[in-house]
Amino acid sequence: MKDYYALLGVPRDAEQEEIKKAYRRLARKYHPDMNRGDKEAAERFKEITEAYEVLGDPEKRRHYDLFGEAGEPSSFLHRGFEGMRDPFGDIFNFFFGGERARSSRAPRRGSDLLAVEEISLLEAYSGVTRTVEVPRHETCKECGGDGLQSGFALDLCPDCGGEGRITHTRRSSFGTFTSSTTCRRCGGRGEINTHPCRACNGAGLREVMDPVEVHVPPGVEDGDRIRVAGRGESGTLGGPPGDLYVEIRVKEHECFERVGSDLRASVNVSIVEAALGTDVVIPTLNGNESLHIPPGSQPGQVFRLKGKGMPRMHSRGHGDLYLVLDVDVPRNLTAEQRNLLKEFQRLENDKGGQRGYMERLRKAMRPQP
Ligand SMILES: [Zn+2]
Ligand SMILES: [Zn+2]
Repeated sequence: MKDYYALLGVPRDAEQEEIKKAYRRLARKYHPDMNRGDKEAAERFKEITEAYEVLGDPEKRRHYDLFGEAGEPSSFLHRGFEGMRDPFGDIFNFFFGGERARSSRAPRRGSDLLAVEEISLLEAYSGVTRTVEVPRHETCKECGGDGLQSGFALDLCPDCGGEGRITHTRRSSFGTFTSSTTCRRCGGRGEINTHPCRACNGAGLREVMDPVEVHVPPGVEDGDRIRVAGRGESGTLGGPPGDLYVEIRVKEHECFERVGSDLRASVNVSIVEAALGTDVVIPTLNGNESLHIPPGSQPGQVFRLKGKGMPRMHSRGHGDLYLVLDVDVPRNLTAEQRNLLKEFQRLENDKGGQRGYMERLRKAMRPQP
């Protein structure tokens, strides 16, 4: 498998702009117009263009980073998400001869399946392995796949007499016209099943649930889709199976708000702790951390715990944890506390602090005579 980063000569954590620049530079160098008849340059140009088609698109790039090693990024590229369907969606159609089942005798690739898996923020932090139950269709054991009760055979279609088509004849003054249409009763097969297998209802297939292990990488974001190659629907007539896509929903956390790879939370201290300074223990997603709050810290002040955010998907390391200081103002004071605060206020006034400022402000706002 190709290393697109190496092809463009950029590091794995390169910014989108850097990737664009690298591609432009290389494209100019290897462009067929600049290298007429040079096969090697043409090949190179094709490769870097392919690399840029993936890395230049943040969505495709994320998938390549996630599954590039195991999967075939080119097939992902060409197919995109088209043809994917809900595993619990049109199964009826699949069973009873929807377009897909009857349209061709050639081998067909199985459908892609989409499953949704909800995980916690903590699981998104550390990565998690989940088992997803995926519906798969296997040959009915009861009838061996022919859809018939044992001892019975298909009957000739009474409507078309086994022709599969019905001929209509119309006479007019100009002559006799005939036209034919596909028999609706047998769908053109000429035979009907009057004794369908009770286990599969005549479909010849049964739905079974297959457990598939899905490895969710650390740092996964809400809405990311993980591809498990070859675990979609089975192909028909020897065609390859489709892929399973697992869409990840990350539940909101009650304390941490996620912003990309950073986390945000609030830290509460009392008015006295904010004034005198204190050390608080912060439970992070990766154990407890100590945060020093210096004396005189203000409400809304932001502290950063470096590297205590979510793991980064496109580069090494972690985001940061931002803590916003929230100062609790006491609601119910005892008589003693009230007296102490009044004493504190008196001392503040003597100092000409905040109160003095408020008085100056009031004076300044008074209408001039
Ligand atoms: Zn018929
Ligand atoms: Zn059956």
